Parts: sequence; C-alpha cells; structure tokens
Amino acid sequence: MDNNNVAYKIKSALNQNGEQTNRLMLVLRTPPCEYKQCIMCGFDNNAGENVRLQNIQRQYQNGITEENFSDIKRIDFPTAGSFYNDRELSIESRNYLFFEVSKLPVDTVMVETRIDYLTEEKVKESKRYLRKDQIIELAVGLESVDDIIRNKVLRKGLKKKGFEHFADICNNTNSQLLAYILIKSPTLSEAEAVEDAVRTADYVYRIANERGIKARVAFKPMFIPEGTELEEQYLSGEYKLPKLWTTVEIVKRTTKLASYQPNSIFVGMFDEDLSGDRFSSNCYKCNSEVVDALKIFNGTQDLSELERLSCECKTEWEQEVRGESK
Ligand SMILES: [Zn+2]
Repeated sequence: MDNNNVAYKIKSALNQNGEQTNRLMLVLRTPPCEYKQCIMCGFDNNAGENVRLQNIQRQYQNGITEENFSDIKRIDFPTAGSFYNDRELSIESRNYLFFEVSKLPVDTVMVETRIDYLTEEKVKESKRYLRKDQIIELAVGLESVDDIIRNKVLRKGLKKKGFEHFADICNNTNSQLLAYILIKSPTLSEAEAVEDAVRTADYVYRIANERGIKARVAFKPMFIPEGTELEEQYLSGEYKLPKLWTTVEIVKRTTKLASYQPNSIFVGMFDEDLSGDRFSSNCYKCNSEVVDALKIFNGTQDLSELERLSCECKTEWEQEVRGESK
C-alpha cells in the first residue's frame, strides 16, 4: 500500500456551464469507509491505513505533477469513504487540499461524503481556503429514489430526508449538488432499471429546483468490484449487469427533464481501470462505439451521437424491455 500516491487518477471530458472541458480526478488513498455496508462498494480496494497529513500532501503533489491545467476546469477528490469524516480525512488535510486548489485555475472542486459527516460549518471552513470565484460541488451517493432499493437492497442507510438536508446544506453554503445514481440495482429488470434511474434524476432535479441550487446527476452503470456482496450475486448468476442500451435510454429521457438544470448529466465508470467483463456492455460489435458515444455526450450534452447508434443487439434489447414492461 503506497500512502504517498493516489489510488488512481483520471482525466476525462465533461461539460461545465455549457463549456466542454476536462476534470482531473484524484482518488485519494484514505482509511476505509467507516460505514462499509453498501453491497456494491469496492472502494476498500483504494483504502490505506495510517494516512497522515504528509501522505495527503504527497498524494496531491504527485497527483498534479505533469498536469498544466490549461484544459482542466475542475478537480475531483473522491476518497475511500467520506471526505468530511474527520476520522477518515483530517481537518488539516482537507484545509491543505482546498488551499492548494486555490492556486489552480480550476473553478470547481468536487468532494464526496455521506450526509452523516457533513455540516454547514465544515463546508464554510473549506470555502475560506478557496478563491471567491471557486465553488465546491458536494457529491452524495443517492443511487435510487426508491426507499426499498436504496436502503434494503443496496443498504445505503440514507433517508430521503437526509438527502434533502444535504441539498439544504448545498443551498446554505452556495455549493453545487452532485447525486450519483446507480443503473440497475439488484432485483431490477432492464426496463425497471430505466424507470428507476429516470425517476431518481427527476427527484434530484425537483429537490434542487425547489431550493434554487445547481445540481448534476452522475449515472453509474453497475459494475462488479472484487470482494463485494454484489460479486457473489454476480458469480452465482443471480445478478446480471445492465446493457449499455439501458444507459443510453436513461440519458435520452433524463435530458428531457433537465431543462432547468442544463448540462447536468454525466455517465461515469468507463475510464475506471477495472476488468472488462465486469462492466455494463452490449455486444462485441457495438460496445466501443456506444462507450465512445457516451463519453462524447459527457462533453457535449448533445444527444445526436446517441441517436445515431444502432446494432442488431439493440432490437433484442428493445424486445426485452418491451416484454418486461408489460
Ligand atoms: Zn451490439
């Protein structure tokens, strides 16, 4: 375990305020998530023990080496657990990161946390280290608006009230909200997975619009991390990964909902370095084309690349979805 280097780092396209730009994501190596109950979470694989301020300083410095930030408008700091849990990432470490970000030409910094550790005071303290023109995006794994899916199937331990409180904190600290939405939780068919994700995005937009805050949704087509309960379900054949067409359909339908939150859709996962057969996929003929189209969409927020896609396997998917939804 190397505490002086980030768990991994990714540069990828996204759309920020109508502009195509890139994000630099530094996945910090921090102690394991204290909550640790979500059935699909493999972030323990990114965790380290006894991570101190000086380790975080080295992780950051090593992480930004060779980046000139001319085409990067945003920096993301996922951790193995919650950014605002003081026992996982110290106050000094957080303050260090925000102070360093204030020297970068980025306008947004994203951090992820469970609601249990988040307070307005903590966010306000963080903001003191940033420049006035920089904004914090607070990200949370909502996964599904359905209480049974979210808390019984996935065991997120997050009430809707908690999510709404999270949105209030965004409002009171002038922060942006980012909600992760999982595509195809266990027990859902492909057709149900479409409905679940679209309904969840609709809920996120409604909560944000009611408060007048800016929100984004990041869809995560399910993948299978090692050592998780989900992996057992997958290996036993009980769980089947979603087709990429399901994600394409969700993106198309969510775009129609996003009129008050333009440029707010992101599809994650394709740039994380995980074994290929444990990802959402279609067929070998169209996989890379569909993944590329989704990546392009992340930057442009324009559906035309997705509208053009076709393959024999799409007809099969359509039949499956139609059959299921009857
Ligand atoms: Zn295909």
